[in-house]
Amino acid sequence: YRYLARSIPDGSLRLGVQVASFEQDDAGVAVRLASGDQIRGDVLIGADGIHSVIRKQLRGEEPTHFSNILMWRALIPADKLKDVNLEEKGNYWFGPGRTLITYWVRPNNLYSILASVPATEVQRESWTESGDIEDLRRSFSDIEPRARKMMEQIETGFITGMYYRDPIDRWTYGRVTLMGDAAHPMVPFLAQGAAQGIEDAWTIATVLSKVSGKDVPQALQEYEQRRRPRTTRVQSGARAMVKLTH
Ligand SMILES: Cc1cc2nc3c(=O)[nH]c(=O)nc-3n(C[C@H](O)[C@H](O)[C@H](O)COP(=O)(O)OP(=O)(O)OC[C@H]3O[C@@H](n4cnc5c(N)ncnc54)[C@H](O)[C@@H]3O)c2cc1C
Repeated sequence: YRYLARSIPDGSLRLGVQVASFEQDDAGVAVRLASGDQIRGDVLIGADGIHSVIRKQLRGEEPTHFSNILMWRALIPADKLKDVNLEEKGNYWFGPGRTLITYWVRPNNLYSILASVPATEVQRESWTESGDIEDLRRSFSDIEPRARKMMEQIETGFITGMYYRDPIDRWTYGRVTLMGDAAHPMVPFLAQGAAQGIEDAWTIATVLSKVSGKDVPQALQEYEQRRRPRTTRVQSGARAMVKLTH
């Protein structure tokens, strides 16, 4: 982040502001913030995630789909895992309707747990934030002994519903385009959401570095043409992985 922030002119980065809408004309795009302020530029790249307001203005209301899967996330400090043999970089356990994916985020320091379970197995009205660890343990009650030992060390966990959208046939409109989850949100079972966003960013930077002014819309079309076939395949692949692993 610091590296990126250093590479743009002072004063051009505005944090903590909410984009409300935009208007474009032949010469540029004006973004209106929730505060009422306006910012004008040559290009607008909507990188605002699965609930993108830019996408909604471009394409109208579109459905998000729930995969009926919840993902638990938890971290365990290494000293709690001294008696569990987890020296591999990553471990995967697959069971009916569920997966357990674990790895060291900081070797010999912090261990990360991602556990997907059927949505029906979590007994609470809202599962958007922290969850009852007993629900998690119940979902994996007959798991392999080493994994059970590891799960006994989890103290708190967070739950996220796994949502996705279908691939779309277009995401560039004049001087406005989308990238990352705003353009192609997917379930995380190929571990590709952020990776595809990074590829988008590199491609946008490359096409825009060659043009200025009136040629911006054409460059954004090139970006989309280069990226959309690949992200569509990855979105479909991620959904296929859900079927394969659950
Ligand atoms: C459990 C889980 C595991 C995952 N594992 C992996 C993995 O291993 N590898 C991988 O590549 N990907 C993984 N992903 C996917 C990855 O997290 C996402 O694809 C990635 O975060 C998308 O990045 P983004 O910048 O497009 O969107 P987001 O991360 O959603 O960021 C959007 C940003 O826009 C801001 N925003 C939204 N609306 C507005 C507005 N109106 N005005 C101003 N700002 C706004 C938000 O505050 C946010 O900061 C995983 C996801 C999950 C849920």
